Amino acid sequence: MVRVRFAPSPTGPLHIGSIRTALYNYLFAKKNNGSFILRIEDTDKKRYVFKSEKHIIESLNWCKIFPDEGICCGGKYGPYRQSERIHIYNYYIKYLINNGYAYYSFDKKMNKNNYVIRLKVPKNKKKYIEIQDLIKGKIYIPTNNIDDKILIKSDGNPTYHFANVIDDHLMKITHVIRGEEWISSTPFHLILYKYFNWIPPYFAHLPLLLSSKGKISKRNLNSKKIIYPIKWTENKKIYNGFKEKGFLPESFINFIVLLGWKPKIEKELFSLKELKFIFSIKDINKTNAKVNIQKAVWFNQQYIKKKSLKEIIFLFLYELNKKQITLEKIKKILKKEIIKEILKRISFFSDIFNEIFFIPPKFYDVNIIKKNFNKYDIFILEKIIDIFSLNLNKKINNDYLIKSFISNLNKEKIIKVKKIIRFSIVGKLYGMDIFIILRIIETNDLLKRLKKLLIKFNSILN
Ligand code: GLU
Repeated sequence: MVRVRFAPSPTGPLHIGSIRTALYNYLFAKKNNGSFILRIEDTDKKRYVFKSEKHIIESLNWCKIFPDEGICCGGKYGPYRQSERIHIYNYYIKYLINNGYAYYSFDKKMNKNNYVIRLKVPKNKKKYIEIQDLIKGKIYIPTNNIDDKILIKSDGNPTYHFANVIDDHLMKITHVIRGEEWISSTPFHLILYKYFNWIPPYFAHLPLLLSSKGKISKRNLNSKKIIYPIKWTENKKIYNGFKEKGFLPESFINFIVLLGWKPKIEKELFSLKELKFIFSIKDINKTNAKVNIQKAVWFNQQYIKKKSLKEIIFLFLYELNKKQITLEKIKKILKKEIIKEILKRISFFSDIFNEIFFIPPKFYDVNIIKKNFNKYDIFILEKIIDIFSLNLNKKINNDYLIKSFISNLNKEKIIKVKKIIRFSIVGKLYGMDIFIILRIIETNDLLKRLKKLLIKFNSILN
């Protein structure tokens, strides 16, 4: 039975590279009816960051990557937090010492009573150690720099290498799927397996994820770039994650699964359910993958369009509530044809604010005005204001009114009228169908914006 694990160290927030490792492990387990285990490797007390365990669990939850066993949910091979397994490592280190495979080492620089326990690397070692990797094939790691690695530190805690091997064995891990940065550690691990006379698991080392500036790293914090699934706060600074930026978990999953994995099928949209059936290690690329946020945005657009009308309304309401927009106004836009229009244009549900024009533009851009309008447009704008002012008591639909007004005009003028009205309402030259906008906006509100633009036109174009 397949058993895989995701074994992060709680040394900071979980970034996109680690969540991809978790996802690949999870999918591999599900594809093979196996188990996915979440183990926390917290034996490095110096690098321990308190909130990271919470960040790891919440990130996995948001992505709907639910472990079968682990710190979250128990299981028969626990405890799953290494700091709670010290007695186990103490037991196994005795075996190594008694058999001459490990030794106490009193480092001169250290206080006399302090010691570490080191692995005794065989003297007649080969020049290269061969690793049969499921992704990279046969790889040869030079052994000239394999020294007697520390297994137990002077504070009594095991090192990553020691605890990792003991736990993988005791937790009956069949496949170790982890980042490429761990390849150089694998020879030590193999020596340990040999000393214990244990059969090592299969290894699959994933190619790196690169940002435009190189390797993605949790030590490389930058508040503008999003590299975390969910938000992380450090020194009172907030680093928003994909979730906070408005990505849906399903589009995030689809985006990251394709960073390094390419199925034979010619398509791009995969649900988690589908991935559990088709994921395979042999389709993982050998080369590093680049993170392209624009692609993630594209996925989000696709998944937004796939939502049911009910879900869309719910998510729009959630966003609109944040800005305290009145229910009466909201009702006007929650109609199927208008929602359809909005969906064509947005990448995130929060983009609805850019589309629905309930809030007047903060200012009218002088450069846009100079480039697109001239002093004759002042006259057109005055005319439009007249039409709507006369209509205030008549209550004819705004869109109908404008349609009849432009019916006598030539093509060029029609374009101009629409352009002026749109610009006055949204402060931009593009957006949703202007007649839909006119149907929704109240005449009063519309007039206020047109008059404000007229003042601007007069001061710039005259
Ligand atoms: N604790 C290691 C990490 O933080 C796990 C490496 C492994 O999967 O063996 O990535």
